[in-house]
Amino acid sequence: MHLNFENKTYLIMGVANKRSIAWGIAQELDKAGAKLIFSYSKERSAKGLVKLAADLSDLNKEAPMVKCDVTSDEDITTAVTELKEKVGTLNGIVHSVAFANKDFLGDDYSAVDRASFAQALDISAYSFTAIIRAAKLADLLAENASLLTLTYLGGERVIQNYNLMGIAKAALESSVRYLASEYGPTGVRVNAISAGPIRTLSARGVGNFSESQKMVEERAPLRRVTTVEEVGTTAVFLLSDMASGITGENIHVDSGYHIIGY
Ligand code: NAP
Repeated sequence: MHLNFENKTYLIMGVANKRSIAWGIAQELDKAGAKLIFSYSKERSAKGLVKLAADLSDLNKEAPMVKCDVTSDEDITTAVTELKEKVGTLNGIVHSVAFANKDFLGDDYSAVDRASFAQALDISAYSFTAIIRAAKLADLLAENASLLTLTYLGGERVIQNYNLMGIAKAALESSVRYLASEYGPTGVRVNAISAGPIRTLSARGVGNFSESQKMVEERAPLRRVTTVEEVGTTAVFLLSDMASGITGENIHVDSGYHIIGY
């Protein structure tokens, strides 16, 4: 068995700009020969995507795009209908979407208000379940489709300032296991990548983010921060048939930082 992405199509959700983890994954999938389709929520992201896609291979230079604000059931339904029309079948989905009110990504976790808690859980955790269910119901997922989301160590351990987003990531990681169990009998795999701290637009919202990167450089076994390319190549593996025996897993791509207890 080898990496074969011929005639395989993947939905990439969450490219905000060239620094986005989703963009790193898209570039690696493009290099591997996969066909891509993107979803975006803000018009600004859509405009950026058109420019970024121009640098991809001929297969994906004019990759289709669908609008999907994951807080809207209507958007999800419309996006799935459009995806069905544009590509017919998906061999996988990359869910690289998260949001939390940055007022609660610093200081004391318990300060979080009800609305911000619900919003973070809705966008960062529930949306993965919602898009998968909609895709499955629309018969959009290919046999043996591979579904992937992005998480962070703050979902498993206390990471200073990650607070509200840590709770959302814990829910997301648990969703991965329940979804893997539910869809496994149909051949569909569901996994997460727990990436080390990478400087992106979202990361800028987390208080004292540079400190997290510094700690990785000082203490992680590999003594360096994770790159989007490394997350991208691991994503390619998980989305491929090479990972056919892996589901419900959370693979850490973080220079080994998660094993360290000091
Ligand atoms: P990013 O470039 O800012 O990407 C976040 C994406 O979430 C954006 O494309 C944004 O789209 C999308 N999004 C937010 N609200 C949305 C909504 N309501 N509907 C649809 N999309 C929405 O940041 P990133 O760091 O690459 O984050 C990608 C994923 O990796 C997130 O799950 C994040 O938690 C995770 N992660 C990041 C790190 C890190 O250190 N950077 C580490 C581990 C895990 P719009 O801008 O169009 O709204």
